Amino acid sequence: MSLFSKCKGCKSVHHLDSTKIRNVVLLSHSGAGKTSLGEAMLFCSGVINRLGNVADGTTVSDYDPAEIKRQISINLSVLPYEWRNCKLNIIDTPGYPDFIGEVQAGLRICEGAIVVVCAVSGVEVGTEQVWGYVSEANLPCFLFVNKMDRENANFFGVLKDIQAKLSVKCLPMQLPIGSQKDFQGVVDLVKRKGYVGTGTQLREVEIPSSLAEDVASYREKLVEAVIEVDDELINRYLEGGEIGDDELYRCIKEAVKQRKVMPVFVGSALKNIAVSLLVDAVVDHLPSPAACGAVKATNIATGAEETVEPVADAPLSALVFKTVNDPRVGKISYFRVYSGTISSNSQAWNSEKGTAERVGQLFVVRGKTQEPVAQLVAGDVGAVAKLTVTATGDTLCAREHPLKLPGINFPQPVLNMAVHPKSRADLDKMSTVLPKLCEEDPTLRVQREVDIGEILLCGIGETHLEVAAERLSSKYGVEVNLGLPKVPYRETITVPVKAEYKHKKQTGGHGQYGHVFLELEPLPRGSGFEFTERVVGGAVPRNYIPAVEKGVNEAKAEGVLAGYPVVDIRVTLYDGSSHPVDSSDMSFKIAGAQALKKGLAQGQPVLLEPVVNMTITVPESFTGDIIGDLNTKRARVLGMRPADGFNIIQAQAPLAEVLRYAIDLRSLTQGRGTFTMEFSHYEEVPSQIAQKIITQRNQSQ
Ligand code: GDP
Repeated sequence: MSLFSKCKGCKSVHHLDSTKIRNVVLLSHSGAGKTSLGEAMLFCSGVINRLGNVADGTTVSDYDPAEIKRQISINLSVLPYEWRNCKLNIIDTPGYPDFIGEVQAGLRICEGAIVVVCAVSGVEVGTEQVWGYVSEANLPCFLFVNKMDRENANFFGVLKDIQAKLSVKCLPMQLPIGSQKDFQGVVDLVKRKGYVGTGTQLREVEIPSSLAEDVASYREKLVEAVIEVDDELINRYLEGGEIGDDELYRCIKEAVKQRKVMPVFVGSALKNIAVSLLVDAVVDHLPSPAACGAVKATNIATGAEETVEPVADAPLSALVFKTVNDPRVGKISYFRVYSGTISSNSQAWNSEKGTAERVGQLFVVRGKTQEPVAQLVAGDVGAVAKLTVTATGDTLCAREHPLKLPGINFPQPVLNMAVHPKSRADLDKMSTVLPKLCEEDPTLRVQREVDIGEILLCGIGETHLEVAAERLSSKYGVEVNLGLPKVPYRETITVPVKAEYKHKKQTGGHGQYGHVFLELEPLPRGSGFEFTERVVGGAVPRNYIPAVEKGVNEAKAEGVLAGYPVVDIRVTLYDGSSHPVDSSDMSFKIAGAQALKKGLAQGQPVLLEPVVNMTITVPESFTGDIIGDLNTKRARVLGMRPADGFNIIQAQAPLAEVLRYAIDLRSLTQGRGTFTMEFSHYEEVPSQIAQKIITQRNQSQ
């Protein structure tokens, strides 16, 4: 009977204890074969009876139209299946750097990782990146050298590359039998046996004589590394004693858990060679939630930190790690249970929101299929539809024991694009649909820029935002174009001036009369706009002064150079005159506005532009290129300090020059650089550049 169906009856759910679960995240540079590997795993387990293909768009994991179109994974997907009486939750993640949020969510909820490396390309930029994340998360980790069947596949070359660029602790557990079109299987270094064949149809064979020497030497390296976890075995080994396979297995498991060894496996996902042996190793050597022990959580009621045990009869704690808005089903929340048991048709407490949630039918998701389950225990992963307030990162728990698990380390958005709806109807729908999109993707943000009259979509990169725009269309029927956002320029004056305006219309009927003298003074950057008055003797009657201020304020919204808002000046109303019958609020408002315009024109106006502070982190070898590029962007480098093979560069640059910096930095550093940016201050635009901006703006208006 299947583990899933056991859950349905609900009687024997505790058979599925946390020692029998493995949560494993697949990571790699884009295209190394994660999705294909996930597919081969499902095929080996018998969950699917036809091996899907990325090129045909038929894999279980990549079913989203945007994924099929681009042939890349965009969403993490959960692939649960059974293997040797264990439940495996394999999390396939996107390799493309724009979707790193999904990778972070996958890393957060797993006890182990498999880093897939292409046997032809070796360690790529994305491999180093995911390696960094795995190391940061301190996750036990396997490597899988994939595509051994491909022309130019070179296991030993790639192994050298892995040990040089990732870690010397990456040691083979297997060696390939044959290579490229002759790739047939692997030698298991622990068992000292060869296995050839595809899927689960494996045949045990003698170790080919050409490999005998390598098998002996790599086995020795492995044994020496793993027995480090057991002093007694080290002594026995040093004295020339034998170490049994079982003892070795125990040591491997512990060495993997302590990250003393990262075993390297080899195979072909496409041909389904040696994949089943990799899955065996997942069950044998990667830790279960139970083996990893308690995790930390905060008790919301007491504020105290608690440890949460991965057992089924503890109070519930479950972390929501992904939210999907399905147009048919509604909102689906994916969660990982850390302690206790969650049941279908029950109540849970959202500790973040302080609200009860009705938990309907639970299910396990596999690609686009959903299987209902009655309960899920500590360590397991599942989903539930239609939670009302729960968002990604929230903890579901028991009301009487409110817990908050640590959230997910999502990266901040770095690229902003303006969203231009294609029609009025699209504009109307945007305000309800954009928040839904952001709910699904915490690395996406919507920002309303009242100032420039634009709605900005902020994300990780160009592809990320393009996919978001496509999703708006395919999921919600809202059509938009994306463009670079406008720069919020400002205008100001550079010399103090006085300006007079008399608004007078006294021909026939009720006349109009308002007359003001204004003084305009430049203020330091960042001061804003001030209005004061020092009218004496009622030259402008008190009751009209608010009207003058209103006129000035309205007029300052559009400067005289290019219609940008005016800042950093003080306007003082100091004189004027009035007419006992013809003066009115309206007349004084017009006089105030016109006097301001006159003053601005005389005050040698200039254009101001926003300048941002940037912190750019790049590998040392890219520093020269980055600084050279910053110089072409009118930036000032303020400082630099080294940190662990990287340089952290502090700079200031005009926003107009760095709107596309997320794209530029990625191409300059092959994706190895990161940066943050925040508004600093406004500065005068150099006159030649200002002239261009003014001409362009006046042409477009
Ligand atoms: P992902 O981006 O890491 O998920 O990689 P995919 O699974 O999408 O694979 C990228 C491409 O490599 C696809 O065209 C696969 O068919 C191909 N591929 C994956 N695994 C293998 C393999 O073992 N051998 C060969 N020859 N091609 C493979």
